[in-house]
Amino acid sequence: GRTFIVGGNWKMNGDRKTIDEIIKFLKADDIPTDNEVVVGVPALYLDYVQQRKPKNVEVAAQNCYKADKGAFTGEISPSMLKDLGINWVILGHSERRKVFGESDELVAEKTALALEKGLKVILCLGETLEEREAGKTNEVVFRQIKAVVDKIKDWKNVVIAYEPVWAIGTGKTATPEQAQEVHDALRKWIAENIGKDVAETIRIQYGGSVTATNAKELAAQNDIDGFLVGGASLKPEFMDIISANK
Ligand code: 13P
Repeated sequence: GRTFIVGGNWKMNGDRKTIDEIIKFLKADDIPTDNEVVVGVPALYLDYVQQRKPKNVEVAAQNCYKADKGAFTGEISPSMLKDLGINWVILGHSERRKVFGESDELVAEKTALALEKGLKVILCLGETLEEREAGKTNEVVFRQIKAVVDKIKDWKNVVIAYEPVWAIGTGKTATPEQAQEVHDALRKWIAENIGKDVAETIRIQYGGSVTATNAKELAAQNDIDGFLVGGASLKPEFMDIISANK
C-alpha cells in the first residue's frame, strides 16, 4: 500500500512563539510510525523549524524558483533548501497560481528543477468553483498535471495534492465522494498517460477545509492517501488528522 502522508501548510502564518507551540504539540503526541508528516513553513522560519522539529516530521518550503541561482531578487532555490537540510517543497499551490500568477508551465519548470536537485515535491492541483460548476473539474486537473508530465520522467518523489479551490479556507470541504471521484479520475489518467506502476504508487492527498472532524471519512476513501491541511495544521487537532487513517 501507499504510505499515508499528511502535510501541514502553514501559509504566511506564525512567529517564533506560535511555532514553538506547534512544535510542542507535534512532539507531544505519538505519530504513527508508518505515517509520513511534512510541515510547510514560511521560508524565513525553515531553519528555525528544521533545528527544533521532532525526527519523524519533515519540513517543506512553500515555494522555490525554477532557476538554481542568479539575479532573481527575492527568490529561493532548490539548492538553498537542500543546503539547510530541507527535503521537501510544496509547488503550484492555488494561492501561488492565483495571487502570484503562476502558470501551469512555471509550476512544471519549478517541479522539474526541484526534483533534479533532489527535493521531494508536493504538487498541488485543483479547480475553481466556476470551473467545477462548468463541469470542467477533470479537464482542469488533467491540464495542470499534463504540464508536468511534459517536463519530468521520474515520479517517485512526487506527491499530488488535489485541492479544490472552492474548499480552501472556506469551511466547505469536498464530500468524501466528490474528493474520491477526482482522485480516482486522476489515478486513471496517470495510468494512461504516465504508467500503471506510477498510478498505483503515487500518493494523492486531499486538501481544502480538512479538520479532525471530517478527516476520518475522507481518509477511508480508496484513493485518498493523505491530506494537505491549512488552518487546522496550526492547531493541536492536526495530530488527529495525521492519524485519521488509523
Ligand atoms: P485549509 O485547510 O485552511 O482550507 O487550506 C487548505 C490548503 O490550502 C492547504 O494547502
